[in-house]
Amino acid sequence: MSVLVFLDQSEGHIKKSSLEAASYGAKVAAQLGVAAEGIVLGNVTEDLPSLGKYGLKKIHTVKNDTLDHLDAQVFTAVLAEAVAATGATVVIFSNNISGKAIAPRLSAKLKAGLVSGAVALPDTGNGFVVKKNVFSGKAFANVAINTAVKIIALNPNSYSISTQDGTAEVAALSATVGTPKVTVSSVDKIVGEVPLSEAEIVVSGGRGLKGPENWGLVTDLAKLLGAATACSRPVADIHWRPHHEHVGQTGLAIAPNLYFAIGISGAIQHLAGVNRSKVIVVINKDPEAPFFKAADYGIVGDAFEVMPKIIEAVKKLKGA
Ligand code: FAD
Repeated sequence: MSVLVFLDQSEGHIKKSSLEAASYGAKVAAQLGVAAEGIVLGNVTEDLPSLGKYGLKKIHTVKNDTLDHLDAQVFTAVLAEAVAATGATVVIFSNNISGKAIAPRLSAKLKAGLVSGAVALPDTGNGFVVKKNVFSGKAFANVAINTAVKIIALNPNSYSISTQDGTAEVAALSATVGTPKVTVSSVDKIVGEVPLSEAEIVVSGGRGLKGPENWGLVTDLAKLLGAATACSRPVADIHWRPHHEHVGQTGLAIAPNLYFAIGISGAIQHLAGVNRSKVIVVINKDPEAPFFKAADYGIVGDAFEVMPKIIEAVKKLKGA
């Protein structure tokens, strides 16, 4: 019996959201009195033994060039073998893009109960009950998993990374790596920007900014804060900003520590993607804008007057 954490990698490095999953998995293992282990697929440059500091006793690796790019079907088959080989009874994913693609498939393959979007440690006192977000973050549900193997996909930024002394043993695991049915022919990478899904701070603009020529108000603040930029859906639809910046129900769901919403009304479909942010700052000229109800800090004012002042103040603070 063990808890197995899927350690998602990007260009050889384990993603921050997977380190959250590792810390979470270590705590679940402690609750159950079993060991927490990790599994890494593909080639990595990360110092794997050092992942012991997140509470993982052992890291299983399946090195194979095919696994350097996510293919949900191939990864699912490998992980199913890994679960059997390691005897894991709880499998933890981050509920990020990879977790969303693999966890449901693994659940179906192993006939294992899955809770996706978990936000807290399971209650193991009486059964195995996991708290999760439902209705786009508007409510919680406590879901009992009754199957022998249990799968949890933890929402990014809902469990803090914790470290301790420790080194993990690293062991190669032999598994059949299938041939992907889809071939990646080319990859276009956006370089030099903070990736939105991993960003601690996000500065986001809506239709209130009137046009793409005014986006300096968003990007200048983002640059100063080391933040990623985002936008509402209509802004992407009318091509003021690229689609990968669109957040919300039909876009990316994010959970940064700080989210600036500038000239965004706060429609429910937008909030669905950002309401897990730790702190929300809203700048809107309409005091009745719905976003103010979700805001931790609100500024009622014209973005074209307020933003230059904020940018100046941050510049002063940073000595820039
Ligand atoms: P608007 O609604 O036009 O709001 C602009 C805001 O800017 C207003 O509140 C206004 O007061 C303020 N403003 C204007 N001028 C200024 C100024 N000078 N200074 C400060 N404030 C100013 N939307 C998403 O964002 N993400 C989604 O994923 C998404 N999915 C959807 C899915 C479905 C099925 C549907 C039906 C809709 C979806 N939408 C989504 C659209 C959503 O309902 C809203 O229409 C959209 O979020 C509004 O974008 P906005 O706030 O930028 O624009």
